Amino acid sequence: MDKIRLGHGSGGKLSQQLLQEVFLPKFDTGFLIQCQDAAIAPFNKSKLVVSTDSYVVSPIFFPGGNIGSLSIHGTINDLCMRGAKPLYIAISFIIEEGFSIEQLKEIVQSASTAAKDAGVEIIAGDTKVVERKAADKIFISTTGVGCLFDESKTCGIEQAKPEDIVIASGDIGCHGMAIMCARNNFDLETQIESDSASLKDMVHELLKADLEIHSLHDITRGGLATCLNEIAQSSKVSIDIDEENVPVSAQVRGACEILGLDPLFVASEGRLVAIVSKNSSDKALEIMHKYHYGKNARVIGDVKDAKARVNLRTTIGSTRILDMLTGEQLPRIC
Ligand code: MG
Repeated sequence: MDKIRLGHGSGGKLSQQLLQEVFLPKFDTGFLIQCQDAAIAPFNKSKLVVSTDSYVVSPIFFPGGNIGSLSIHGTINDLCMRGAKPLYIAISFIIEEGFSIEQLKEIVQSASTAAKDAGVEIIAGDTKVVERKAADKIFISTTGVGCLFDESKTCGIEQAKPEDIVIASGDIGCHGMAIMCARNNFDLETQIESDSASLKDMVHELLKADLEIHSLHDITRGGLATCLNEIAQSSKVSIDIDEENVPVSAQVRGACEILGLDPLFVASEGRLVAIVSKNSSDKALEIMHKYHYGKNARVIGDVKDAKARVNLRTTIGSTRILDMLTGEQLPRIC
């Protein structure tokens, strides 16, 4: 590895390698190595939940959202995945010289609305402008801070246990395919809209209910397959998934077929995987179904005390290992 490749930003295997070889040896003090959606750090006698993310999506406007709303939803969701109540966001912009002020206003409006809708305050920010071609239109970074919704309930990707149930909160891959179709000007019969959304209300209702929720992980870069592999590796369990039960809309499936992509590796921005105890799965599903972004929630598999990996029972009845994303399927998806 002597040069950065696009795959190093995929969220899959190459990203993991970059973390292990470059960042963790210099930065890690015990938090980063966990590779969680957000860190839970001690603060006075309480806990602080922190997450940061950069957004380089192309195109910056897409069906169902734009880079502004996406940059808020993504950070809010990462905080929620640890059982946090998101409180504050810091936002910074890197803008290319010549970028339209009109478009900037639209992006800022979307970010502002997304934050207000989630009850989160934007309390710090920064703007940098670089010469033409030194950036592509606009990049945004957001950092979110929150506190635990309930100090006795933290969830993490290392907490999945044998016999747990695996739930996907909705049909997967809409965000990735919306971006892909927008980028290539695909004229499909029905336009695919991004699923970009704040999952805060649904997660908080799950946390409020008397449920045993062990892991929550948002399905983003690398798709469901990568998300499940991260949980399996961290929890040292095997996760068995039934392909037949994985919710995929007909439009996403169709677009994936045309492009030769596997929906299991395509990003979402408003979906999560929940790993819950057997006793909690019915109630968790019932709660998810109340939300428009959770209406297609389904049990997709279970957790076993076996080698840390993801097994996929395919629709034709065979079983194969489902690995995390290798290389880069769709660069600049978020
Ligand atoms: Mg995440």
